[in-house]
Amino acid sequence: MTMQTTSSGRGAIELAGVVKSYDGGETTAVDGINLKIPDGAYCCVLGPSGCGKSTILRMIAGHEDPTHGEILIGGENVVGLPPVKRRTAMMFQSYALFPHLNVRDNIAYALRVRGMSRSERYRRAEEMMATVQLGEFAERLPGQLSGGQQQRVALARAAITEPRVLLLDEPLSALDEHLRIQMRTELATMQKNLGITFVHVTHTQMEAIALADLVVVMERGKIKQAGPAREVYIAPRDRYVAEFMGGQNVLRGKVRTINGVRATMVGRGEEPIEVAFDGRHRLEKDETIEIAVRRDDIELLRPEKGKVPAGKAAVSSRIVGIEYQGNFVKVMLDATDDVAFIAFVPERRFFQDPMKVGEVVYAAWDVEHAHLMIEP
Ligand code: ADP
Repeated sequence: MTMQTTSSGRGAIELAGVVKSYDGGETTAVDGINLKIPDGAYCCVLGPSGCGKSTILRMIAGHEDPTHGEILIGGENVVGLPPVKRRTAMMFQSYALFPHLNVRDNIAYALRVRGMSRSERYRRAEEMMATVQLGEFAERLPGQLSGGQQQRVALARAAITEPRVLLLDEPLSALDEHLRIQMRTELATMQKNLGITFVHVTHTQMEAIALADLVVVMERGKIKQAGPAREVYIAPRDRYVAEFMGGQNVLRGKVRTINGVRATMVGRGEEPIEVAFDGRHRLEKDETIEIAVRRDDIELLRPEKGKVPAGKAAVSSRIVGIEYQGNFVKVMLDATDDVAFIAFVPERRFFQDPMKVGEVVYAAWDVEHAHLMIEP
């Protein structure tokens, strides 16, 4: 995903040292956040329930102010300003459409509260309906629309006030899976058409990956990692991010030998596992480290067919489960003590010579493809 973004444009957001506590300091919902969201970006704030996502959104919106810290929109500190002055708009999960007003009136209503003339309100509503392709539904009531069309109306109603920033709180969580995926695409298209900054809160990793230019992963009021979706996915900084983003196996071990930019670590088994590292790390002997290995980077080899090829690292493990997934086969292994170690084997390759539960195999990967995490 490429897009024109700048860090000082009108819809650029900056959170600096933001803290929010409740109950006289007993609960810290947001615990010292620094974050820059470029103008025109699609930012997804991701994390489990209770980690502070909605609180961040409400503070950007202006429904709440931080206990400490600054919030800048377009370079201007907005703390203390009401939402209208901040030029932010919020779209809720429920859409909150007026059931007795048709699409045109639902959209135009947002301007009425701003004291605009009737003719101007309707002119703008027509324009907005064209932008979000709702023209043919202008006369329909919300009850006569699909879930997706209702979402478009809710977005149009938020966007017509010309906000610099649109805030979306779990906008897709009320929909069934099929519709959720369809609406995800719509949201992305609308964001590009409108060209404004979106900040979208979700606890669904797939949603964040699919939509975001910038993914922000949170845990207990803190940012664990922020970056482009692909970077956060392929280079998680620690086990929490790796497990939350999914698709990775995490292996822990102690450094046994160090040689240039290669080391070996020894995990649960006694076999040395080769690890590549770069200038960001200084490894020490006996230090505990963790590496992330993608499920789709793992190749399963039968030990009787020879040794692990040069350039590959491997762990010997037993197959504990096999699930057919259509385009790949999910093979679960007992290489780690806690969560299953998983290999995604392309379905054609798997069925050339299917493996069985109980077999002991090598789970192997290119040494260069494993990712040494910064914080073990
Ligand atoms: P999320 O959106 O990630 O689920 P929230 O931002 O809603 O998380 O909440 C973060 C934490 O702050 C939670 O522990 C929640 O109970 C607490 N919290 C949120 N709002 C309030 C409030 N108005 N009063 C007291 N505690 C709150």
